[in-house]
Amino acid sequence: MITIGDMHLHLINDGTTYVDAGGVFGLVPRVLWRRVMPPDDENRVPMELHCLVIRTGGRTIVVDTGLGDKLTAKARAIWNLDRPDGGLPGGLSRLGIAPDAVDLVINTHLHGDHCGGNTRLDAAGAVVPAFPGAVYAAHRREYEDAAHPNERTRATYLGDNFEPLARTGQLRLLDGEEEELAPGVFAVRTPGHAPGHISVRLESGGEHALFVGDMASYAVHFARLGWMTAYDVEPLVTLETKRRWQRWALATNALLIFPHDGQVPAGRLRLAEDGNPQVVPVPLARC
Ligand SMILES: [Zn+2]
Repeated sequence: MITIGDMHLHLINDGTTYVDAGGVFGLVPRVLWRRVMPPDDENRVPMELHCLVIRTGGRTIVVDTGLGDKLTAKARAIWNLDRPDGGLPGGLSRLGIAPDAVDLVINTHLHGDHCGGNTRLDAAGAVVPAFPGAVYAAHRREYEDAAHPNERTRATYLGDNFEPLARTGQLRLLDGEEEELAPGVFAVRTPGHAPGHISVRLESGGEHALFVGDMASYAVHFARLGWMTAYDVEPLVTLETKRRWQRWALATNALLIFPHDGQVPAGRLRLAEDGNPQVVPVPLARC
């Protein structure tokens, strides 16, 4: 647990996947990235599925919900998913948070590894909301892209992760560039990885934090403007988004939380002696 002013933050890992490093590092030469993250003998690197729990003012908020438990055996094998601790449901249970006690779920975007736990299978095999009392927030542009996938995005925009919420009236679509969803909890538009991608900015007691989302999946992607994943649909937009948020992170000394980085789940941006930005890790135990 870590605090930002009056807010309590907990990081839960929905699981560890092992994915092709070509996806994670895109055009970055292997000779550069392998020093940061050594691949296994199949050229795969670990990709965590971080979900952030925010407790503030009597409210419980979950940011991103991982891959969830609806995966077929084939999909689970493709992701090489390792989930020793019960994933998001296990972590919430350890924190004493019942599913119906979650007030708000924020999806940074609707790719399958960020919203799979929005819904679950009930005893009869029907897909139902995993958090029956929650409002689920995502950007309207992202919802429109997810509802109309193309040949490249079809594999990751899976209707079972968000359509049931539209049917139950629990889905709240956000417009514009910034919206305060709870006191000090802001959804901020950070396009690039997807046009409707949002990050979650927190402000309390003069302290700042950002759940970065896939604007920078790993800490090194935030520090190095030119490093981005091959999954980004608008890479040059990602670059300018990161440039803006680097300036903000340096000015506010914000705690940065990365969705897929097991080595550096959280950190603060600093200018190193050579003048280049680097993320200095901050311990943030996963529960
Ligand atoms: Zn992701």
